[in-house]
Amino acid sequence: MDSEERPRNLSQFKRFQTNDEGRKTFTSIDQIKTEASIERLYDRYEQLSALESTLPKLHRADHARYLQLSLERLSTAYECLDSSRPWMVYWILNAASILNLRFPDELLDRVVDFLVKCRSKDGGFGGGPGQYPHLATTYAAVNALCIIGTERAFTAIDRQTLKNFLWAVRESNGAFRMHVGGELDVRGAYCAISSAKLSSFPPEDEMKLFEGTSAWIADCQTYEGGFGGAPDLEAHGGYSFCAAAALMLLGGENRCDLNALLRWTVNRQMAYEGGFQGRTNKLVDGCYSFWQGALVPIVQALIARREGQQNIMNVSLFNRFALQEYVLICCQKPNGGLIDKPGKPADLYHTCYTLSGLAVAQHCETHSLPLVLGDERNEVLPTHPVHNIPPKAALDAYRYFLELDQPESAEDMQCNGKSSNVPMDASSENDSDQQSSSNMTEDSSSNFTSSHTSNE
Ligand SMILES: [Zn+2]
Repeated sequence: MDSEERPRNLSQFKRFQTNDEGRKTFTSIDQIKTEASIERLYDRYEQLSALESTLPKLHRADHARYLQLSLERLSTAYECLDSSRPWMVYWILNAASILNLRFPDELLDRVVDFLVKCRSKDGGFGGGPGQYPHLATTYAAVNALCIIGTERAFTAIDRQTLKNFLWAVRESNGAFRMHVGGELDVRGAYCAISSAKLSSFPPEDEMKLFEGTSAWIADCQTYEGGFGGAPDLEAHGGYSFCAAAALMLLGGENRCDLNALLRWTVNRQMAYEGGFQGRTNKLVDGCYSFWQGALVPIVQALIARREGQQNIMNVSLFNRFALQEYVLICCQKPNGGLIDKPGKPADLYHTCYTLSGLAVAQHCETHSLPLVLGDERNEVLPTHPVHNIPPKAALDAYRYFLELDQPESAEDMQCNGKSSNVPMDASSENDSDQQSSSNMTEDSSSNFTSSHTSNE
């Protein structure tokens, strides 16, 4: 990896392009085609940047407009995501937060009212009004409500029925199904613990609910080092993120091989493209800028916690400039929105996670200033690497629900360092939206939606 932390000379990097040595496979043909489309963009960028030193630019206003329009009205192309509506709300709100865009209060109130309609009387949130509750849409709704962060939004999270729902999808070994009778994979464990932590379940409830969960997650680690969706499945960036983020929240990292996980993760950054792939021998994809990009500092933090060596966090273990090059040069649509790779259309999922990856690339080092490629106005706000919401939103949620349980003594408890239900390092975060580094010790996720699953 690039230890000198400077932008690459892209012409020199052409030596890292794929050489199939005359033996073509379907995979090598796709890889070479993808590299050719990226090469055209990098060549054009090098010519233009010789004329304008502030390149590449983040098209902030275009993305903000795209998000604003999407929150009010979606195109018919999104009909197939009718069971993922809380996801779309979350993707829009989180991407907007990273761009430092806050929607009007009246609009956010309407968003809260909509999410309340998605809430099930049995606990959790469904994909739309009247739909069965699902762990993925529950995670998305809880995250969205925490981003909004008003009293009305926090009140929309019903902790008692949420707890009932989590028990309803829990298996006796500590694994979680995505919905009652549904599929069982590591997303479930992550969505459950993330939602429980943000709403500050009492420690004794959390202990019972997640008994055995870390051991089950550890069984999902593969010979490659990454995690599959369930035991004996292929290592995958989204599932690996879910596993590591859940272990960070649960404190169960000693059960897995962290060094192997770190080696697998950093090797998913593509040498020429600069972005990440989701699995070995797959193509680069903008959304893995977050799933894999955030995984690196999470695993570093897990190793730092295991070793008791916080300085492990003070070094970059992936090429942060190269990731920003891929995002800014290859993944921005001229009319707003971000994409998987050149030639693909913009969508809300990729807009959220590609921008989230940009935030991680800029802010993931704990004890230094943000590392920003190009113009200083390209700097975005940090995201909490475990929950993928603004760090302050996570802290506000922990505090809000803690104080509900202990209205008299919550402040005293925090002063005495007894707020044991606050995930690691959250209690040391300051109130600035710009702060980033102390949040790097926890996190979250994978491809949650039915439209974006395991073929990446
Ligand atoms: Zn993707």
